[in-house]
Amino acid sequence: MSAALVPDIQARPAAANAPLAGNAPVELLGLTRAEIAAALVEAGEAEKAAKMRASQLWHWIYYRGARDFSTMTTLAKDLRERLAQRFQVGRPGASRDLKSSDGTRKWLLRFADGEEAEAVHIPEEDRGALCVSSQVGCTLTCRFCHTGTMKLVRNLSPAEIVGQVMLARDCLEEWPSPKDGRMLSNIVMMGMGEPLYNFDNVAKALRIVMDNEGISISKRRITLSTAGVVPMIGRCGAELDVNLAISLHAVRDDIRDTLVPINKKYPIKDLLQACADYPGLSNARRITFEYVMLKGINDSPADARELVRLLKGIPAKVNLIPFNPWPGAPYECSSNNTISQFSEIVFNAGYSSPVRTPRGRDIMAACGQLKSDSVKRSKADILREQQAKEAAAAPMPAVAQAEAG
Ligand code: SAH
Repeated sequence: MSAALVPDIQARPAAANAPLAGNAPVELLGLTRAEIAAALVEAGEAEKAAKMRASQLWHWIYYRGARDFSTMTTLAKDLRERLAQRFQVGRPGASRDLKSSDGTRKWLLRFADGEEAEAVHIPEEDRGALCVSSQVGCTLTCRFCHTGTMKLVRNLSPAEIVGQVMLARDCLEEWPSPKDGRMLSNIVMMGMGEPLYNFDNVAKALRIVMDNEGISISKRRITLSTAGVVPMIGRCGAELDVNLAISLHAVRDDIRDTLVPINKKYPIKDLLQACADYPGLSNARRITFEYVMLKGINDSPADARELVRLLKGIPAKVNLIPFNPWPGAPYECSSNNTISQFSEIVFNAGYSSPVRTPRGRDIMAACGQLKSDSVKRSKADILREQQAKEAAAAPMPAVAQAEAG
């Protein structure tokens, strides 16, 4: 990564493959095949056999969803035992599992260090998308977004990102990975966080998700949404080649500066240029522009016409998102009439412009409603908590014990 591409935020790094939950052995989830092979060698497997064994392990982990080494019957029994002593195949904990009246399901995930994020499954008739988080909290402070009221706590690790998909598959009972007809057919990187500010971990996780000997969700069924981290958009296209969605939300810099403050750094013109340059665009493969409908802010017919003008030359579709309210939000949703009018102008100019049906509003699972109670703590806070824990766990001094007794 060149210096220019280093995000100007200091996220606490995700623990390097620490266990996903509890005080357990080293996590295998989130490792590349080569890293799994190295882990096998570390567990005493001969170097020559490691590559093949890694493929077998990959199949058990990502095709069958196996977590228990003793069930991995294509591996020798003594190897299974050695693996079980050192490694684990974990999942994020789910401290809450909520189901909406419309079938949307939201998991409040809990990671090994106690931090929390959310993942949402949005079922449709014969398919479904999983909305995956990339960070605990977010740096972006978009004014209409609930997650934006949280500070960034930390990046999620590859294991924690791919773990969201594994957990959803567990809950939907979709192991082994069927090729067709599955309810977890699509991935949208539209949960908490800005995926392009955690690109390396997101990329590692998505490569695992796309691997066709495992979870096997094709890049055409994966969409990454960004608020507009312009210098990373090219890399996203070149290295992952997934569908791109842009949280545009305004057609003038002065308004977008307020709604999506990253615009001050990467204004609309630069953002649209990066979109026009996105590799592999065609009429069959367009960029999705997300546009949240905020009453009296960005929803006039003139805004719609300006949007059409800005998108000229970019293979694009527009996704209009009725604003989803959250406690204390400073905006209201545009009226249905206003939204239809806006959509019609965009549609008549030749762009598909569906209005996104809000899903899971009753469980606060709709776009922009995700939030967890994780808070950013300073190093001093963490140290204090640790000391308090140690003090509580320490044996009581004899005098105190006597008194207590
Ligand atoms: N940080 C990335 C990923 C989040 S995607 C991004 O900004 O694209 C979540 C989508 O929901 C974004 O388009 C976001 O702008 C939109 N959103 C946020 N708050 C919303 C709200 N209250 N109502 C409707 N959409 C919202």
